[in-house]
Amino acid sequence: MQQVPLGRTGLQVSEIAFGGIPIQRLSHAEAVAVVRHCLDAGITFIDTAHGYGTSEERIGEAIRGRREGLVLASKSPARDGETFQAHLEQSFTRLGVDYIDLYQFHNVATAEALEQVLAPGGAMEAALRAREAGRIGHIGVTSHNLQMAIKMADMGIFETMMFPFNYVTREPLQELIPLCQRNGVGFIAMKPMGGGMLEDATLSFKYQRQHAGVVPVVGIERAAEMDEILQIWADPAPLSTAEMARIDEIVARLGTRFCRRCDYCQPCPQQIPISTILNIKSFAARMPAERVYGDWGRQLIASAQSCIRCGQCEGRCPYGLPVPDLVAEYAGWYHQLMAQHAGQGV
Ligand code: SF4
Ligand code: SF4
Repeated sequence: MQQVPLGRTGLQVSEIAFGGIPIQRLSHAEAVAVVRHCLDAGITFIDTAHGYGTSEERIGEAIRGRREGLVLASKSPARDGETFQAHLEQSFTRLGVDYIDLYQFHNVATAEALEQVLAPGGAMEAALRAREAGRIGHIGVTSHNLQMAIKMADMGIFETMMFPFNYVTREPLQELIPLCQRNGVGFIAMKPMGGGMLEDATLSFKYQRQHAGVVPVVGIERAAEMDEILQIWADPAPLSTAEMARIDEIVARLGTRFCRRCDYCQPCPQQIPISTILNIKSFAARMPAERVYGDWGRQLIASAQSCIRCGQCEGRCPYGLPVPDLVAEYAGWYHQLMAQHAGQGV
């Protein structure tokens, strides 16, 4: 695994980053072992978040005694300075470190959210103070909204941009990735496997590999997953004609069903979290069981059932997704999953 520069941060990172969402599903000891396995395999870039439950503390234990040479990234959804500061302190404690290389504003998806971050007393002020004090190294941002991401990558204040990018979600290739490269903003590719929707790791990582200057972050639950990805990555051969044809076939099949989580379809008059429901399979596969089957899941299904099929979301989705049908379909799938779980008496 080679080291590559992350934009103009001056950081050198492994070509693939470890994503810390799925380890929440494991026992503490299993999670620590998975992280350590990835470090042993040459991963030096680890991404987690204040909001990923137990992820930070598990990573913290895994890196104890071997912090040197690692690039640690975390993030906070806070928009105001006080909450951001509190999250940052918690991240230090949970990770067991006194310095975090990259701290990101988590999912800045709207102009209002950005305004709050940048307002006097907002999260950016707190982040700048922390960077000046030498407690964090760099300030980044994550988003699912392409127009917002383009705007933020051009502001000269965010050093990294984490955004979904895979062979179905190719839109960043047009403007966002070139812009990040021109501006020296490190581009971190979220969801290289489409949040679990793209099952063939070979296609996904060969596709990532042929885009220089893009660092994919992959959520890892089992050591074997990282081994498989690293094996694919070690082969420099570009996608073959047959593999490209297979990608085209998958894109054609998924194109009108694949939700990018951009939230352009909002606001829903029923306040249905549409993109969460349309990505429920991915969430269900990555989140701890108590959340999947607990209040969070039940509330999600209840909200889906309040859809009045007004069609507003469908008119706004730039990808032409049949949104109300998909809301009903995925809610139905989730309902069945919950029923099975209840039937198992777990
Ligand atoms: S069709 Fe349903 S999900 Fe879409 S905006 Fe209307 S109520 Fe919301
Ligand atoms: S349904 Fe369409 S507009 Fe809404 S989040 Fe998904 S891709 Fe974006």
